[in-house]
Amino acid sequence: MSFDYRDGALYAEQCSLSELASQYGTPLYVYSHQRILENWRQFAAHWPAPHKLCYAVKANSNLAVLNVLAQLGAGFDIVSGGELARVLAAGGKAQDVVFSGVAKSRAEMAYALEQGIYCFNVESAAELERLNEVAKAHGAAAPVSLRVNPDVDAQTHPYISTGLKSNKFGIAMAQAREVALRAQSLSHIKMQGLDCHIGSQILSPAPFLDAADLMLQLIEQLRGDGVAISHLDMGGGMGIPYQHESELDVSAYLLELQKRAARVGNLTLMLEPGRAIVGNAGVLLTRVEYHKPGVDKDFLLVDAGMNDLMRPALYQAYHDIIPVQQCEAGTSIVDVVGPVCETGDFLGHARHITANEGDLLAVMNAGAYGFTMSSNYNTRPRAAEVMVAGASAQVVRQRETLSELWKGEQIMEMPE
Ligand SMILES: *Cc1c(COP(=O)(O)O)cnc(C)c1O
Repeated sequence: MSFDYRDGALYAEQCSLSELASQYGTPLYVYSHQRILENWRQFAAHWPAPHKLCYAVKANSNLAVLNVLAQLGAGFDIVSGGELARVLAAGGKAQDVVFSGVAKSRAEMAYALEQGIYCFNVESAAELERLNEVAKAHGAAAPVSLRVNPDVDAQTHPYISTGLKSNKFGIAMAQAREVALRAQSLSHIKMQGLDCHIGSQILSPAPFLDAADLMLQLIEQLRGDGVAISHLDMGGGMGIPYQHESELDVSAYLLELQKRAARVGNLTLMLEPGRAIVGNAGVLLTRVEYHKPGVDKDFLLVDAGMNDLMRPALYQAYHDIIPVQQCEAGTSIVDVVGPVCETGDFLGHARHITANEGDLLAVMNAGAYGFTMSSNYNTRPRAAEVMVAGASAQVVRQRETLSELWKGEQIMEMPE
C-alpha cells in the first residue's frame, strides 16, 4: 500500500503526511507516484499492443500526473481543447489522444485537427456534420469513432450513469447504423471505430461485457454494410472500492474482453480508465479547526470544504476519513464538515473519529475527481498538490494566492 501507518503515523510512501502538512499547509492533495505506476501496470500487463489505453484526463489533470503516464506510454482521453493543451504541455503526444465530449466547439475541433489527434469520439449526428465541415475547411480528413449508447443498465448512481438511453451522451443504438453510413459517405470523415462509456464506478465486469457484446454485434453488422471499423473503445468507468466494496477484477475483465473481440477479429481494443488509475493514489489532508458539540451528534469543522473535494456534496460519495496520527477509536459520532456556507458542504457523515482542534485528517481515495472538480467558491484559493516518490516529495501545483483569484477582474468605470 502507498498510504500506511508506521508507528502510528500515516505515511505516503516514505514521507510523513504530518510533515508534508506542516511544510506545505492544508488543505493539501498528496499523490503517490508508485501507486499511479502500479495502477497503470495492472491494466498494461493484460493489454498487449496494438490495444491502447487512454487515461481519462478529467480524473486528474495535473501536469505531473499526465507526465508520469505519458512516460509509461499512455494515450489520453480528453473532453476539451484545454485538456489537449494540458496533455501537450505535460509531454503527451497528440497522436495518442482521443477526444470525447458531447458539445465540441468548432474551435476545439480545429485545434485538435491541427495537432493531429488519433480520433474524435463523435457523440451525435449533428457533431458529425460539423466535424466534416471543419475538416473540409482545414483540407484534412477527421478520424472518427462513433460513441454509441448500448443502453446497458450500469446499476450505478443515476447521476453518473451514462449508458442509459435517457441521458445526453452518445448515439442511440437504434440510430447507430444510419449515422455510421452517413459518416462513411462524408468526404472529410474517416470512419475508424466505435466507442461507448456506460458509466462510472462500476465494480463488476458484467455490465461492461454486456455492452461489449452489443458493440461487437454492431461492428459485424457495419462491416457487412461495408463500413471499415478498426477499433472498439470500451471507455472507462472501472470502479475502485471507496468503502467496503470488493474490487473490480481488472485482469478478468480485460482478458474476457479480448476473448470476445477476437471472435469478431481485426479489432484494436481501447479503454479510457480514469478513476482506476489515480483514485486511490491521492489523499486530501485537512486540519481540524473546531470540534463543535451538537445535540444529536458532534461536528468536526475542518479546513477543506466542498470547493476542495466536491464528490460528497455532488453525489453523496463516500470517502474514508482517517486520523494522520493514529488514536484510540472513540465512541463519539461526528459529521466532518467544511467551512463553506452551504448545508451540503460535508466530507463525511456519522463517522467514528476522535479528533480535536489542530489534528490532521486524511480523506482517502481523493486522487480522482478531487482537485479537478475544485473551485474558488467562497473565495477560497485552491489547494496545493504534492507528489511523493519514495522519500522525496515535490510540490506539483502551488497553492493559489488570493490576488490570483481576482486577477482579470475590474471595477467598472461609470460613464460621466
Ligand atoms: C469520465 C470518462 C471516462 C473516465 O471515467 P472513469 O470512471 O474515471 O474511468 C472515460 N471516458 C469518457 C468518455 C468519460 O466521459
